[in-house]
Amino acid sequence: MKYVSTRNHEDKLTAAEVIIKGIAPDGGLYVPEITPQFDLTMMGILPSCTFQERVAVIIEQFLPEFSEKEIDKAVAAAYNQKNFSVKEIAPVVLLEDGTAVLELWHGPTAAFKDMALQLLPQLLKLSMKKTKDKSKIAILTATSGDTGKAALEGFKDVPGTKIIVFYPFDGVSAVQKQQMVTTEGKNTYVIGCSGNFDDAQTGVKNIFADKELAQELLAKNIKLSSANSINWGRLLPQIAYYFSAYAEMQNHKQIGLSEKLNFVVPSGNFGNILAGYYAKAMGLPINKLICASNSNNVLAEFFTTGKYNRKRNFMKTVSPSMDIIVSSNLERLLYLVSNGDSERVSSWMNQLATNGEYCIDSKTAADIKEVFWADWINEEDTLRTINKVYFERGYLLDPHTAVAWRSLERYRKQTGDVTPSVIVSTASPFKFSAAVLGAIGGMDVLHDKDEFQMLDILAKGTGWPIPQPLQGLDKRPVLHGSYCAREEMKEIVNAILLD
Ligand SMILES: *Cc1c(COP(=O)(O)O)cnc(C)c1O
Repeated sequence: MKYVSTRNHEDKLTAAEVIIKGIAPDGGLYVPEITPQFDLTMMGILPSCTFQERVAVIIEQFLPEFSEKEIDKAVAAAYNQKNFSVKEIAPVVLLEDGTAVLELWHGPTAAFKDMALQLLPQLLKLSMKKTKDKSKIAILTATSGDTGKAALEGFKDVPGTKIIVFYPFDGVSAVQKQQMVTTEGKNTYVIGCSGNFDDAQTGVKNIFADKELAQELLAKNIKLSSANSINWGRLLPQIAYYFSAYAEMQNHKQIGLSEKLNFVVPSGNFGNILAGYYAKAMGLPINKLICASNSNNVLAEFFTTGKYNRKRNFMKTVSPSMDIIVSSNLERLLYLVSNGDSERVSSWMNQLATNGEYCIDSKTAADIKEVFWADWINEEDTLRTINKVYFERGYLLDPHTAVAWRSLERYRKQTGDVTPSVIVSTASPFKFSAAVLGAIGGMDVLHDKDEFQMLDILAKGTGWPIPQPLQGLDKRPVLHGSYCAREEMKEIVNAILLD
């Protein structure tokens, strides 16, 4: 099996090559040329398998040049009880008949990006071996909070790599900042920079595009790579947990083999839900994929009208990891639903770059609607949902998951669909304790409290334990105190990599 860019069919690459490259030189994203099919007999075996066994059989379909032994080893190094606090790794909690929550936040940073970023470094190491590439890898990432820490944890002390994370100094939460600046590991670099997340991201993109720097790095045998969800190596691990959740729903006696499930996914860059679409394309019996957004509702508008319009105000919400206007991975969906028509995909993406919008044809829009349903939830409704679900069921939702929960309620009301549904939960409620406490305790409990005190208040008030990675965070030593103006980002990278 080979991989191609969403914008050109000519170059065919191996899995190892696309995992190292990250993004295609034409600006497109790498996708498998054909989607492998997973048959029903195999599906029948999954309920009795461990999470690790399920991941291995799914990802090997996409990694033909990797041996079974190599894959098993990579999976074991990523998903174990050193990195994850529960042995199921991604448990499915049944809340009532027909409604369950897939908890993807038991990893080292208490959010779902760990699911991919624990495995990506392993896949990258193997890819270097396969391609006999002896370069050193420098991972360069801009983060709005969650990706940075997850990438740092995934890559820390991985031989042959360095990881550099830039975060907007005043643009992440106190907990997120403390998580990053206390990261251990000899190969980790964390730098706060001036400006907002977009500035940090632009700075990083400019460094990637800098030909002179690339030459200098090449002379030192260093390659730049990205831990962003444009990398196929980050998307692939996510496909596996859809299969695992399906198997768990069979174990919970919610469905029989080949019966259908809905998945509801809180979406930002569209990476998580796209993995669900790949699972469906491989043959997993999924009825609807419900795409849930916050007030940055560009995806909901796109799915309803067929028009993608990035000319809108950026809203800061209580679910900040979904505060995104340009959802990169949508490009992969457009490629898949237009049957690999890279010319059309290129034309839409060019229109987006030059006019800030594009409109898909009615046939493509109708094909997408067959599979997807989309909605968006405002701030007040998000907080009310956290309150209601906690007091009615004793289950604590983080704001991102609350957006998904509420979207499912609205979907069921509007459509009458009774297909059993899995809500994909992307963060521990403790990661966003201010919003969660505000929602269940009222704003007055927050008066005068810092974010670290809020973790304790939330734990005491609910009886839920603080996830281990967030315990005692404020007492850990700060190991990364660097700060730079956004104009200095390149110099910093130079100093770290070329000295
Ligand atoms: C990144 C993130 C999302 C959005 O996921 P996408 O793959 O970008 O759609 C949702 N929730 C949380 C907590 C996240 O960290």
